[in-house]
Parts: sequence; C-alpha cells; structure tokens
Amino acid sequence: MLKLKMLKHAVLVVSAFAGWLYAQPPAAAPAKPDSDAVKALIEKAKKAGGPMWAGEEHFFCEAPRANSPSDPPIEPTKIFDNVYVIGNQGTVAYVISTPDGLLMIDSLSADQTETQLLPGLQKLGLDPSKVKTIVVGHGHADHFGGTPYFQEHYGSKIYIAAADWDLMEHPPAGRGGDKGGKKGPLAVLPKHDQTITEGVPIMLGDFKITPVAVPGHTPGSMGFIFPVKDNGKTHVAAMYAGTILTPGIVSDEGLQTYLKSVAHFKEETKKAKVEVELQNHPLMDPIQAKLDKLQARKKGEPNPFVLGQGNYQKFVDVMSACTEVNIARRKGV
Ligand SMILES: [Zn+2]
Repeated sequence: MLKLKMLKHAVLVVSAFAGWLYAQPPAAAPAKPDSDAVKALIEKAKKAGGPMWAGEEHFFCEAPRANSPSDPPIEPTKIFDNVYVIGNQGTVAYVISTPDGLLMIDSLSADQTETQLLPGLQKLGLDPSKVKTIVVGHGHADHFGGTPYFQEHYGSKIYIAAADWDLMEHPPAGRGGDKGGKKGPLAVLPKHDQTITEGVPIMLGDFKITPVAVPGHTPGSMGFIFPVKDNGKTHVAAMYAGTILTPGIVSDEGLQTYLKSVAHFKEETKKAKVEVELQNHPLMDPIQAKLDKLQARKKGEPNPFVLGQGNYQKFVDVMSACTEVNIARRKGV
C-alpha cells in the first residue's frame, strides 16, 4: 500500500516535471549552478558568436524555450523576390514562388491552416492551389500539420525524410520527441508520399533545394540550402530545419548525434557559400525585428536576412558551442 502511494507520488512528480518543460517559457535555467567547466564552455560560445549572436548564445546556452501555440502571429511578408514568410514568432513556413508554381517549406500546425496559413497566402496574393510541393523539415506536427489539407485539396507533393515518415507513421510509445503527445494518434498525417534524401536535390521546375541530413532532434531532421533573390541578385540561403530548442527532452545519444549534424551542416553551408539565415523556429534570432527592418528599408540598404558568409558560419558555431555546453551539463562536468 505504502509502496503504491510512493509510486503514485513519483508518477505525479514526473508528469509535473514534463509539464514544466512545456509550460514555463523562459525557464530551462539549469537546476544546479553551472560548474566552472561549463562556464568556460559558455564563454567559448560567447566568443564564437561575438556581439552579433549574443542573443542566440543566450537562447541556446542559457534560456531556451519551446515554441508555443500562443506565439504572436507575424505579418505575412515577402522577404525576397521569390520568398514569403507566414506564421508566428515561434514557428513559420516559407513559400517560394517559381515559374512552375509554389514550393512551401513546412506548413505550421493543422489548427493554423485556417487561422494563419491560408489567410497568409491570401494576404500575399498567392493562390493556395498553386502549391505544388511542400518540403517538411522534420516529422513533428508543428511542421507537417498543414500538409494533409494541401495534399487533399490541391494534390501537393509532400517531401519528408524516410526516417521521419517512419517516426510519424509509427510514433514511439510515450514521449519520443519534443512534441510528445501532440504528434501521437491525434495528429492527422499526410498520405505517405515523397522522401527527402541527402544528395538528391528537390526540384520544382528549375528551382532546386539541396537537402542536408541533420539527425538529432528527430532521426530524419533535414537542413536545406537554396537560392533566394533580392532585387534580382542571387544569394544562397540555408535553414537548419531540425533545431533543438529545449535540450532537456532530447536523449544523451540524440545530443551527440545533433553535435555531429551541426558540424556536418557547417561544412555543407560553408561549401555552398551560404549568407542568408532562415529558421522555421526563429526564436533564437527573432524574426519580427527583421521584418520591421525590412519594412523600413530604403533603396540600396541591405536585406536584413542577408548576413554574409562569415556571420552565417558564426551562427552555426554558436549552435555547436551551446550543444557542447548542454552535453557538459548533462554529464555533470
Ligand atoms: Zn520538432
């Protein structure tokens, strides 16, 4: 009897803790003070990012938070000649216009199709029936949620890495990933469709996305490299579409895999001369500030999403350095 009571208590504590991971936005400060070794790693991360990435460093190393359904919506905006952004401050989808139709990267949550995605397309003057292709960064419901609608109504092709089709179609029992319950049986899945594989470009007409495998957040998380145009000038953009926002819910093995993936992504983005940083969860580098800058932009001024190659690499370096911080905390170093 006593044993049962204790067990119940333990279960309560565990579920209360799990709830805290979602419910407490700024939270995630480590339960115990950082050791000197961890503090040294944080300093390393600060150095890696410099003043430009101080906010990113603070987010990833010190104050991570998950995206939330209540993140304030952003104004749907054309950010490049061929790229539009729709969604909210925690989670966005990008729409790329090509002569052969629209390609969307991610699709928000299912319950945001009617409230954000479709109204956003309409506001931007984009016809949802022209969405030929949706490329999904990883198999969680806040990224693939909108896909069944487009697949059903417009026959849009849905691209997801094989490992994440598997994750969606056979979700692990209990809390397997950061969206836990949300991606369980309640999530409506798209019908099994196209797969994303590193080394196989995703094409829509002449437009090409180069996928980079970045497992860690999920087994099939992907990064994307693709060209964008600003007043006719082409720049190379990248998006790490499987960013770990709150490390507390990722396994030790997952964090190690993630560290390797970030290094791989760094190599690929360096080779591709990436100078534009786009995120599907732009919490570490708030998107609203950039949209404001874009709106106030005068002729000849730079596009706030174009950062330059060196600054893009520093952005990735901070992701890596803060992952090392989180691994060291985990190990109790
Ligand atoms: Zn996710």
